[in-house]
Amino acid sequence: MSEAVLIRGRHVLTSAAPESYTDGAVRLSEGRITHVGAYRDLAARFPGHPVHGGPNDIVTPGFVNAHGHFSEALLAGMAEQYELNAWIRALIAPVAPHLRREDAYVGTLLAGIQMLHSGVTLVNDMFVCDPVGPEPVTPGVVQALDELGLRGVVAFGAGDARPGVERAALVREHEELERAAAASRLCRFRVGITVVSAQSPELFDQSVRMAVDGGHGAHLHLHEVREEAVEVRARHGSSAVEYCADRGLFDAPVLAAHCVWNSRRDMVLLAEHGVGVAHNPVANMVLGSGVCPLPELRELGVEVGIGVDGAASNDRQDMTEAIKATVLLQRVHHLRASAMSARDAFRMATIGGARALGMGAEVGSLEPGKAADVVVLDGDSPALANVHDPVQSVVYCAGPREVKEVWVDGRQVVAGGEAVSVRPADVVARSRDAAASLVRRSGLHDLSVLAGTGGPS
Ligand SMILES: [Zn+2]
Repeated sequence: MSEAVLIRGRHVLTSAAPESYTDGAVRLSEGRITHVGAYRDLAARFPGHPVHGGPNDIVTPGFVNAHGHFSEALLAGMAEQYELNAWIRALIAPVAPHLRREDAYVGTLLAGIQMLHSGVTLVNDMFVCDPVGPEPVTPGVVQALDELGLRGVVAFGAGDARPGVERAALVREHEELERAAAASRLCRFRVGITVVSAQSPELFDQSVRMAVDGGHGAHLHLHEVREEAVEVRARHGSSAVEYCADRGLFDAPVLAAHCVWNSRRDMVLLAEHGVGVAHNPVANMVLGSGVCPLPELRELGVEVGIGVDGAASNDRQDMTEAIKATVLLQRVHHLRASAMSARDAFRMATIGGARALGMGAEVGSLEPGKAADVVVLDGDSPALANVHDPVQSVVYCAGPREVKEVWVDGRQVVAGGEAVSVRPADVVARSRDAAASLVRRSGLHDLSVLAGTGGPS
């Protein structure tokens, strides 16, 4: 059991009411937040407690990374200049049959360390692979998250459109991941659907039954690029959002990644069904996908979180970068500096992501009773030396270098800016062999095949 501690900050930003405390503190005990208030009061009331953080630091709720792919963790920094569908053909499809459990495990450790270093305490993942061997792949994600001490919502991104993929093997992979998550301390399972156009109607209906009847909820990509909207309408006579609603998927809690290309009716449907959205600004820019209509979605009451997305479409697994990009992309798109504020992005990165995942009662803000997922930003770092508005300082000034401490479920997983639950240098070394072998097995070792400008026709 974790010991009770006080975490002190010059500014404690709660993502709840009141919005902040000056010279405040949070008390953690047995994995929960028990008190939030003035440091002086809490220190007097709990005199024996170890004190973390410090008088110049900024304390925030842990960030919720609302969308990502640990299946891409070994593929950073390759295959640029492709739009989504060409990128899938060039990079994701060749790798998918070659991902093994060791890749899932090592890749999750590698990306998970980067997430912890950028203040992430909860990650919503979709592992995309073609399970072809006897050994299930995705339980490697859960094993790594448990070792890291990182909270996870885990899904297997199933699709049966590619040749040679058996539906029974996909269902088995879902079941193996579900079993691993059920045995884990910090993970829970969702049914993954890569994208509507990657699933036959039979597999889609099966996924809906698992998500609804099993009480799991679902995680899918939705309206990421214009081509998807066009293709689904041509094939099914409706938008992908309408297709999901018509076939009952939205009867389950659903987290939809992207939602860039929506009609007004699509957005109303998302709001009416309480579908959460994960916005991934850096990946949308890397792949040239488009700009998510965040103001419209949020105005309709859709809960929106922020995602880093996978390392193959956003090479750096850095949540602070995604939070800042969320504001900047809206401003340049609307040619208006008031299009989005730091406060909007901070809320989306914390309580917004938690609510989008249906976990708003458990995590996402610093309130008594919630899980003890807390971040301390170093107020003695040059980037945070002078804080005039702490929310703007967090969104615009802080990067991974400022992340000093991270607590998940009351346990400290980052101390002095370094992940402490695993040895980062060992993970880096182990990932080199795994990445080189994966790229070789996938036939991508000759990088000239990926050096095109615009992808294969
Ligand atoms: Zn994605």
